Amino acid sequence: LTEKMGETVRKLRGVDKITEKNVAGAMKQVKRALLDADVNLRVVNGLIKQIKERAIGAEVVPGVDPGQMLIKIMHEELTEIMGKDQAPLAKRSDGQPTVVLLAGLQGAGKTTAAAKLALYCLKDKRSVMLIAGDVYRPAAIDQLKTLGDMINVDVFSMGTDADPRDIIRKGIEKGKENKIDTLIVDTAGRQVIDAKLMKELKDVKDISKPDETLLVVDAMTGQEAATLTRSFNEEVGITGAILTKLDGDTRGGAALSVQQVSGAPIKFIGVGEKVEKLEPFIPERMASRILGMGDVLTFVERAKEQMDEREAEKMTKRMMEAKFDFNDFLKQTKMISSMGSLAGVMKMLPGVGSISSAKMAQAEAKLKLADSLIKSMTVKERTNPELLYSGGSARSRILRISKGAGRSRDDAEDLVKDFLKMRDMMSRMSKQMVNGQGGPGGS
Ligand code: GDP
Ligand code: MG
Repeated sequence: LTEKMGETVRKLRGVDKITEKNVAGAMKQVKRALLDADVNLRVVNGLIKQIKERAIGAEVVPGVDPGQMLIKIMHEELTEIMGKDQAPLAKRSDGQPTVVLLAGLQGAGKTTAAAKLALYCLKDKRSVMLIAGDVYRPAAIDQLKTLGDMINVDVFSMGTDADPRDIIRKGIEKGKENKIDTLIVDTAGRQVIDAKLMKELKDVKDISKPDETLLVVDAMTGQEAATLTRSFNEEVGITGAILTKLDGDTRGGAALSVQQVSGAPIKFIGVGEKVEKLEPFIPERMASRILGMGDVLTFVERAKEQMDEREAEKMTKRMMEAKFDFNDFLKQTKMISSMGSLAGVMKMLPGVGSISSAKMAQAEAKLKLADSLIKSMTVKERTNPELLYSGGSARSRILRISKGAGRSRDDAEDLVKDFLKMRDMMSRMSKQMVNGQGGPGGS
């Protein structure tokens, strides 16, 4: 029991700092996760460097190990990089229509996204019109018209013989005449990035002077997303992106690449073929998806909530002075149980999966036993555990407590002995640590 309690307390004492050494394993894990999520390798290396700079020396939340803390910091960093808050779709307030231009490779989901955005605008109480700027595939105009019909939105088109530049010019004129709030321009894509595509896009952009140029990126392109974004951003310039096809099991590393390469926010994500399957991009959620370590993140969050740093400092001080009493002990076990069962908490910790459930149950039973005995103690006994060990009344106190808790005398005696041993050990340990760090010497 001493060992178990000592370990628990050590984990909770809250004096750890992140060092390069104590997070080496977690650093590897994070890198692996990013690569698995298809984040571009160059982007990954940049991020790892960044996280190292930020994390080394950072305080570790009590109850959490440095590796878990690192993962948490990485999550915060990724969230911040990806924009922290959700970036809204542009909206003009000068009475002119807001023009949204969609660009991207063939099959990325531009036409689908155009209709999805139109529906989004309707829900935002904006009047909206779609402009069919893809003349190279006859089916593209029909596709947009079908989608427009479904949501009752007009589609401006001039057939496949017209020049896209003329279509855009006339479409915008018509939008102005009809006092439409938002005009969404669907454009042609190609299978690869080439000069012709870029030239046409640049022209269309010059003509339409869009308030938003959104790059539509297929999330499944993974690594490619970085190169793609670089070209479009350098040649045409983008104000944001829509990441499509996130309804599959891709981890979404493309989101990070797009953001890192262009600095532009992802504004929406596509999560299905249907026209209503568009969601705002939430950086925090995407960061969790990319890291794929939800359990650890939840665990650190809960630990943070359960015990603030001040409390931990107070506790450490009491340990050093060997003033740690049964009240402190109760506080700590309560903290553990409010995080879920001990077994549940342990399972969330990486590398602890190997503890047998029998052992876990045993530890849990011991904590319960201790809890019931402590609750049968008087306030005076809880704050002065030695009263139960030596002195004339110790024997009768132990008897009364064990009876009150419905436990045996041995149980009560063991608890007290173990507790005092542990307290002594904690005190020595924390003094050693402080001395090692060059703090005030003991005695
Ligand atoms: P475009 O060539 O860029 O205009 O791409 P399309 O809009 O025609 O979409 C290409 C294919 O991807 C179509 O079959 C769409 O139904 C599909 N698609 C588009 N967005 C999504 C999405 O978010 N999830 C899924 N699963 N499929 C999508
Ligand atoms: Mg299309």
